[in-house]
Amino acid sequence: MGKHVVHISDEKELLPLAEYLLKLFSGKRIFVLYGNLGAGKTTFIKRFCNVLGVQNTIQSPTFAIINEYSSPKYGPVYHMDFYRIEKPEEAYDIGLEEYLDSGNYCFIEWPEKIESLLPADIVNIRIRVDTGQTRIIEVDNGSYPDI
Ligand code: ADP
Ligand code: MG
Repeated sequence: MGKHVVHISDEKELLPLAEYLLKLFSGKRIFVLYGNLGAGKTTFIKRFCNVLGVQNTIQSPTFAIINEYSSPKYGPVYHMDFYRIEKPEEAYDIGLEEYLDSGNYCFIEWPEKIESLLPADIVNIRIRVDTGQTRIIEVDNGSYPDI
């Protein structure tokens, strides 16, 4: 499995990393981000959206669960945060499957809450806070060995 590990000591490095990953995984549309509160999931998704040309205000959809943005090149971009849900059925009820099947970009915070509903062909991102402000970001593309 192709796994990438990147150490980010400055938030400014997230934009070029997002750009690199979107190119590397140009065929993928579902990116899930694991990490504790404050790890930097929302911040990283902002950078992905910046690369996609999203002009909307990008903020955590913790209460709304889903925010829809628009990319001039790729159309709708979905930003989801499942922190507040208790059961995967709640995600099913808001139409998660339609979003996942839409072929549009989906960026998902707290994917562990809906793991049973996720397809295999996704990009997994794990963010951990190392000493100081450094983030360790691990990326792998689901169960597919070749990128
Ligand atoms: P999460 O969505 O995982 O709860 P946030 O994206 O809201 O986390 O980030 C929490 C804080 O961490 C923000 O103040 C942000 O500026 C900071 N931060 C995020 N990513 C990084 C990074 N790669 N390096 C340093 N600080 C970061
Ligand atoms: Mg967040």
